[in-house]
Amino acid sequence: MELIQHKDSPRFVIVNEKDNVAVVVNDNGIAKGRKFESGLKAVDNIPQAHKVALCDISKDDVVIRYGQVIGRAANSIEKGSWVKENNLIMPESPTLDNLPTGDAVQGKESSLEGYTFEGFKNEDGTVGTRNLLGITTTVQCVKGVLEHVIERIRKELLPKYPNVDGVVGLTHSYGCGVAINAKDSDIPIRTVANLSRNPNLAGEPLVIGLGCEKLQPEQIRSEVLTTNSTGKSNFYKLQDSTSGFAGMMEDILEMAEIRLQALNLRKRKPCPLSELVVGMQCGGSDSFSGITANPLLGFASDLMVRAGATVMFSEVTEVRDAVALLTSRCENKTIAEALVKELAWYDQYLAQGETDRSANTTPGNKAGGLSNIVEKALGSIAKSGSCSISDVIGPGERIKNKGLVFCATPASDFICGTLQLAAGMNLHVFTTGRGTPYGLAMAPVVKVSSRTELAERWPDLIDIDAGQIANGQKTIEKMGWELFHYYLDVASGRERTWAEQHKIYNDLVLFNPAPVT
Ligand code: CA
Repeated sequence: MELIQHKDSPRFVIVNEKDNVAVVVNDNGIAKGRKFESGLKAVDNIPQAHKVALCDISKDDVVIRYGQVIGRAANSIEKGSWVKENNLIMPESPTLDNLPTGDAVQGKESSLEGYTFEGFKNEDGTVGTRNLLGITTTVQCVKGVLEHVIERIRKELLPKYPNVDGVVGLTHSYGCGVAINAKDSDIPIRTVANLSRNPNLAGEPLVIGLGCEKLQPEQIRSEVLTTNSTGKSNFYKLQDSTSGFAGMMEDILEMAEIRLQALNLRKRKPCPLSELVVGMQCGGSDSFSGITANPLLGFASDLMVRAGATVMFSEVTEVRDAVALLTSRCENKTIAEALVKELAWYDQYLAQGETDRSANTTPGNKAGGLSNIVEKALGSIAKSGSCSISDVIGPGERIKNKGLVFCATPASDFICGTLQLAAGMNLHVFTTGRGTPYGLAMAPVVKVSSRTELAERWPDLIDIDAGQIANGQKTIEKMGWELFHYYLDVASGRERTWAEQHKIYNDLVLFNPAPVT
């Protein structure tokens, strides 16, 4: 990547030497008539993060960014002009047949030894980065009561148990009025089940149900119906209350206190990085996401994988156009086939709604300089770094193998976050260009801005400013190591992210492609 380092003069970034467009860096864009250091003159006013043509591009010629074709010129494009959505004809979605497998897998990367983090060891072998009381639910009907209970737990019980980081209600819209055995209903059901197994909940949540719902507790956790280590059940159904709302509250508070006593005895202990599960995501992306924040995550992801951790990337519609770049990084043919199967399933799912992956890009993405989903996808997959892909899991499934894992989820921020939590994520990292206050109650969320301008406007929401890479202040390598150490500090509870400090939490949102009744 070429950086031009004078802060006030017109600057652009070229990602790949084959590119015939570059991205404008300056905060307020570039005015028509101004010259870049290379001698290129802007012939339009070009906003920050938008593309400038580096040469004359004839009608129908390819427009190249990241060394890949992001479209064909819809009209002739003059050197120095602003290249935007209506100048580009988007390529067809690439076929899922005859894709390369394994040819970009390099020899095993050298392992990084000696790194640990301080976590809470669970009986099932997983490790929490936080020590949370989780209360999961079988149906939306219980949500109102649960909110009252949680409020009382926070006020009356938590102050007595200082080693417990908080209480989380796993509420959702599923359970009642669903076609429980319908095709694809296994996705929301296994998501609810696996959310309750998240390592940050110590593996033993309470479960609250109503009683008459389609989703019964044994479909989530059969063990909740038996007695736990204290001789009590972890399951309570509201329809069993003999004294109304007040009785429900007292019964659940009593169950919660027993769990809090056990959770409070837990202490952080040094753990190998193999017990860290990092979920990566982007939201509110702009053209810089693929130049600064996502490559930064990619560098840190390679370090984490080499140190033995599991790192997930997701968002099917944002990898679909880069499928060949990913199948060629799958460790073997079986993993590549699993990737193609997930993408094909998603193509079908979108086709049922008479749409395709191009529905992904948002008005904010376009205002941020991303002309189409091809350009967005090429920037999005930069998060995955360069390590080989060691596994692919479906939506709502739990991770099985360590290393770099593709977790096939929708790109919707909270659905992706929910599914990564179900997969076993205990640390989340989220890149943003346009800005979002996104956060999750079940795992710390590290927020990385793609631009310094955003980090300066939102100093109490953005944890890491990757804009320093475009400014030439830091290299990706230097910031990548800093991010790696920050992950370990956050995982160990030595650092609290802004979303945690402010307690900014999005809802859990299930992915339910099955019918409701
Ligand atoms: Ca997203």
